[in-house]
Amino acid sequence: MSFFTQTQEFIKKCVDELGVEPAVYEFLKEPRKTVIVNIPVRMDDGSIKTFIGYRAQHNNALGPYKGGIRFHPDVTLDEVKALATLMTLKTAIIDGIPYGGGKGGVVVDPTKLSKGELQRLSRGYMRAIAWFIGPDKDIPAPDVGTNPQIMAWMADEYSYIRRQNEHHVITGKPLELGGSRGRTQATSRGVMFIAQKACQKVGIDFKGSKVVIQGFGNVGGNAAYLFGKEGAKVIAVGDVYGSIYNEDGFDVDDLMAYYKENGTVSTYPKAQKISNSELLELECDILVPAALENQITKDNAANLKCKILVEGANGPTTAEADEIINKTDILVCPDVLANAGGVVVSYFEWVQGNYHFQWTEETVNAELKEKMYNAFDRIYEMAQERNVPMRKAAYMAGIKRLADAMRLRGWR
Ligand code: GLU
Repeated sequence: MSFFTQTQEFIKKCVDELGVEPAVYEFLKEPRKTVIVNIPVRMDDGSIKTFIGYRAQHNNALGPYKGGIRFHPDVTLDEVKALATLMTLKTAIIDGIPYGGGKGGVVVDPTKLSKGELQRLSRGYMRAIAWFIGPDKDIPAPDVGTNPQIMAWMADEYSYIRRQNEHHVITGKPLELGGSRGRTQATSRGVMFIAQKACQKVGIDFKGSKVVIQGFGNVGGNAAYLFGKEGAKVIAVGDVYGSIYNEDGFDVDDLMAYYKENGTVSTYPKAQKISNSELLELECDILVPAALENQITKDNAANLKCKILVEGANGPTTAEADEIINKTDILVCPDVLANAGGVVVSYFEWVQGNYHFQWTEETVNAELKEKMYNAFDRIYEMAQERNVPMRKAAYMAGIKRLADAMRLRGWR
């Protein structure tokens, strides 16, 4: 079953179990609109190469479509549709976020492009979708393989097309161009807040807890850093090139410095090398998959030895794996809750952009903490009340808010 089909099926189950009308599922089962674009790019050797790009707008009952743009060789239409659907739920479960869900992607390995090629591709993608998006219509942001520099090129291209500065069409921009303090680390900080809350419920002291993190990109790398700084013991991390283990916990300053210098943690000398599959099966308190989807499957789910699973990535656990984990005592903090910190601070960035003012980092982090803690409490309570796992509770909470909004708007 594909990522998108799994997501659809799970929504269907939650709609049925919630007891809202089936019409709600009719609105949520497919994105409202999706565009497929071909982006011809002049390469450095003078040739033209055409890249395929997508933008899916899933649901805008609560406000403009919102969600990142992924640059990755494995991007597919199915994946973009699934990720757009998760964004609708993510924005719906965080109280007070006035957004719907969307997602974009380009089939490309950005590490294989020169800086010039990457800029031309980013501008080309924006030119292709500019008519489809807008600051009050659909607001993109970074995702896997994209970053503030790419957002800056896209914001510039959009403003050029519109013949005026409209940088708030996109979030995750550099601070100099209307970005928000705290945005880069926001997803990871949110993951940490959720992990702290989960520790309280499970009866573990966050300080000194043993943490394993899969992925060392913006989410995984910053999570390792923040967890370490807040006193947790990061005992294993990994990236595409391999994983490393140190039972005493890493010095996260040193690990970050090594990553910045070498572009991988797999060769970090003060650690024992382990395989990427061993990483997920290590005994620990908190496991944070923060790479791509489909990492915890029916083949390894029964081997997890964590007490808490906090999904930094989108869709890291397959439906079959989820069922296996639900039979254990592992407390699952699902993606739509756990990694919502990114879009929360994107929202803060958009608000700041709309009234041309910059908040301090303390304000951003305090507001983020409040939103994440509240969301955790609400979902946890719902899980207890209805006697369902956290993922189901999170989806139900999101679907309920969407169902109410769609009814009030007169859509059904
Ligand atoms: N790409 C991030 C996510 O999956 C952030 C999206 C946003 O900030 O709009 O949540």
